[in-house]
This record gives sequence, structure tokens and C-alpha cells, in this order.
Amino acid sequence: MTLLKPFWQVMITITPETWDKNYTCPLCGSQITSKKVFTEKIVVKSYDEDLKPNYEGINPLLYSIVVCNTCYYAALEIDFEKYISPIYLDELKNVLSTVKIPEAIDFGKERDHKTALISYALAALCYRAKKQLCKVAEMYLRMGWLHRDLKDIEAENKALAKALVSFEECYMSTYIEEEKEPMILFYLAELSKRFGKKEEARKWFSTLATKYKNSSSFYVKVGRERWKDLK
Ligand SMILES: [Zn+2]
Repeated sequence: MTLLKPFWQVMITITPETWDKNYTCPLCGSQITSKKVFTEKIVVKSYDEDLKPNYEGINPLLYSIVVCNTCYYAALEIDFEKYISPIYLDELKNVLSTVKIPEAIDFGKERDHKTALISYALAALCYRAKKQLCKVAEMYLRMGWLHRDLKDIEAENKALAKALVSFEECYMSTYIEEEKEPMILFYLAELSKRFGKKEEARKWFSTLATKYKNSSSFYVKVGRERWKDLK
């Protein structure tokens, strides 16, 4: 005979979605914790036209940024503990000294969209101070996506317009790693298209499709389709 658990017992076995990870702030030395989402809890339900992932259940984008609760230094989790070159320290400290965050906000706890948006805004400031312009652009892109979840179209457009300007700045003025370039070209094209710059969009999609014609990148695949549609 098979013993089946009654449904109410099954329903109360809820496994946690996040865990607390410890970090040392590279700017002020504080010990902090930040929530990380268990990989197996991340379920992508669909993608929007600009490849914004829509999740079933917990949204890992809320926890991508680690923020120091003491000095507000913020960065993507993979970058957070990286050594900061002394040439950027003054600028970083300057920028962060002007930041005012409501006391009730604790970046180490569970995050809602509002807290996550602040974390991305802080990370954008820090990446700008460290002259990592493509990362600045990515921060604005994700801010646009969070505003889209909240159905705030005006704020979404504002963030995405900043993302486009930052992607342009980054592409024109900094060294781009080859593995990052398809993503950057895709967003230069996709965001140009969104803001009605058809010629620009065509140019960027064509660069993406021709320069990376043998690449298996998802951005190249989708970009090629978009380029055909625009022709
Ligand atoms: Zn700190």
C-alpha cells in the first residue's frame, strides 16, 4: 500500500526561496549579509520583446545587487567584493556622501520593488564613479524592467532612455569584451527601436548580425530576426 501524504501536509512543506550570504564591503570594511535566491527557485515563465525575463514566484532581479548598509556602496553580486582601484576611491566616497536613504530600508532583508530600485540606483552611481559605463547602462535597463512590473510607464521610459544613452557612451568610449558585445549591440538596437530611432536600430542589428554571424548567442539569434522585421 502506498502511503500518500494528506494534501495539507504537502502544502505546508514550504522550502525557503533565499539564503543569507555574508560579504565584506570593499569600501568601508563593514560585514554585511544579503539575500541570495536559490537557483532551483528561479523559474522563467516568459520573456518580453526586449528579453526582460518574467518569473514565476520569486523575482531574482530584486536581489542581484549587494548593498552595504553602512556606506551604501553597491554592485552586482559578482562584482561586490572586487578590489576597487584607489583612483576611484575619492569619487566613490564623494558620490556616496550625498546619498540619503530612508532609515527603514534594510538592504539585507527581503526586498520589494522599491528597495530593489534604490539598490540599482546606488549601483548605477557606483559603476559611474568607477567608469564602468556598460554596467551603468545595465543598471538602468533593469530599473526600467522593475518599473514595468509596477506598470509605471513614465518611469520605465525614463530609465530605458538613460540605459540607451549609457549603452551609447559605453560603446563609443570604452573597451568592450567580446563576450559582452552581442548583448550591448542588441540593446543599442532594441532600445533605439523602442524610441523610434529606426535607422539607428537597423544599423545596430546589422552590426550584431554580421559581426557575430557564427555566434550561438541568444542575442544574435533574436537580433537577426528583429533585423529582418525592420528591413
Ligand atoms: Zn561599506
